[in-house]
Amino acid sequence: MKDETRLTRLGRPHDERGQVNPSVARGSTMLAPSARELYDFPPGRVHYGRVGLETHQALREALTELQGGAGCALTSSGLMANTLSVLASVEAGGRILAADCIYGPVRNFLLTTMPKFGVKTEFFPPRMGAEIADLITDDVQAILLESPGSLTMEMQDIPAIAAVAREKGVITIIDDTWSAGLVLKPLQLGVDYAAQALTKYVGGHSDVLMGAVVARDEALFKRLQATERSFGFHTGPDDAYLALRGFRSMAVRMERSFASAMTIADWLKSRPETGRILHPAHPDHPDHALFQRDFTGGSGLFSVEFPGWDIPASERFLDALEIFGMGFSWGGYESLAIHCDPQLKRTRTEHTHDGALIRFAIGMEAPEDLIADLERGLAAVS
Ligand SMILES: *Cc1c(COP(=O)(O)O)cnc(C)c1O
Repeated sequence: MKDETRLTRLGRPHDERGQVNPSVARGSTMLAPSARELYDFPPGRVHYGRVGLETHQALREALTELQGGAGCALTSSGLMANTLSVLASVEAGGRILAADCIYGPVRNFLLTTMPKFGVKTEFFPPRMGAEIADLITDDVQAILLESPGSLTMEMQDIPAIAAVAREKGVITIIDDTWSAGLVLKPLQLGVDYAAQALTKYVGGHSDVLMGAVVARDEALFKRLQATERSFGFHTGPDDAYLALRGFRSMAVRMERSFASAMTIADWLKSRPETGRILHPAHPDHPDHALFQRDFTGGSGLFSVEFPGWDIPASERFLDALEIFGMGFSWGGYESLAIHCDPQLKRTRTEHTHDGALIRFAIGMEAPEDLIADLERGLAAVS
């Protein structure tokens, strides 16, 4: 079956009532049928609501099967999907290698929280492949990828890095929010943990914050789940329900968002104001070949260089937009734009671009209207 079909079927209830969707199952206390089962409950029976009831179970099953993994942990945000994956993978005295283009708050976690537990992080140039072997010293325990990376959209050679890491016994984690586990299958490329913000394309309507980590095999899943349970993480069933509801229509929304993004990227490319179009599906992107090799589709998030623009020019452009909103999320039905330069933080490498870097998240609007909006923005700068 194709993924579009699987999205409509995975995790659905199998009860005889015929209800299409799982109920929103609320509950902390779960009563045991007998005193013996208080401490000796059969596998599969939930003994306490913190581990999640059938709404959570349906979402976990759907995400696990879409990615071809062994199991899934739900988290209260996409950030926590990343931090939980890290906590499950490392211990004191260890070192993490992280792509220099990872999501800013994950960088912050690695630099401020992990050192308290005796774990150091080293950032590597984000456009890397098998050469990462040279950076894997004996203390390296995990490698964090994000491809394409936040804001600057650089890509790593995922299968090459996963193969080297596996050989050296290092766990690989990817923040795969951009592809939503739909148009890229990181676990099939050898990655151990696929973390993502369900907040973005899965939720899809800018009304829910949630994350998920899918583990490649049973041993990795056990390790992830033990960490999740020891911390006491839990997500609400209403949020799990909303995420699963978004999951059903994700393929259509992403296809539309991707198609409009490419139309808009081509239009922007035809304008004299623009430099490189940093969408991996666009031939301008330096890692376009990796995209063509590993991805089966795309999404609607990309960045564009505007040579010669300073921050006031970016602000004039953004303030003139009437349809694009300005906000730090994406993957919803509404289009968004931000200028990236004030928040670009790098450790290992510089991201060199002439002028300003503007990131666009393309929603469900007609691309003609979005192009007219961008024309307004460009006019405000010139
Ligand atoms: C938004 C985002 C996150 C964080 O998700 P939240 O649910 O907002 O915590 C993590 N990684 C990437 C790449 C993101 O874009």
